[in-house]
Amino acid sequence: MTALTAEQETWAAELRAHGRRVTKQRLAVLAAVQHHPHSPAEGILAAARQELPELTAQSVYVVLSDLTDLEMLRRFEPPHSPALYETRVGDNHHHAVCTSCGRVEDVDCAVGHAPCLTPHWSGNSKPMTIRIADVLYQGICQDCQSKQQLPVNLT
Ligand SMILES: [Zn+2]
Ligand SMILES: [Zn+2]
Repeated sequence: MTALTAEQETWAAELRAHGRRVTKQRLAVLAAVQHHPHSPAEGILAAARQELPELTAQSVYVVLSDLTDLEMLRRFEPPHSPALYETRVGDNHHHAVCTSCGRVEDVDCAVGHAPCLTPHWSGNSKPMTIRIADVLYQGICQDCQSKQQLPVNLT
């Protein structure tokens, strides 16, 4: 393998810390997710193949699920969307999704650590110890909003 970039060195060290071998496949998937945050597996496959054309869909799925288990990647599933992946992990950030075009933006955690919110339990529910509050904001992005405001019969 050629010399690793600083970014790849960090991932290599993390992989080794988890007892994983540092492979071209794993590094290509990490780079693809890093450079295309909030991408579905298909998009990650396409991006990673630019670097590693022999990469198979199957191996990308395996790597994605393994790295998610190791918490080197975070996976989240907005409604009506395939699972999306990102390398921004461990900071308890949330997501805003445009209900019109599916665009996803990160939203920083309001308190800076999990859980971001604590529930108010109603009388007939049994309170739980909350570890994570994963908030999904849904709205309309600026692009979709400006499209919707265009005059209708502009020809
Ligand atoms: Zn939109
Ligand atoms: Zn995110």
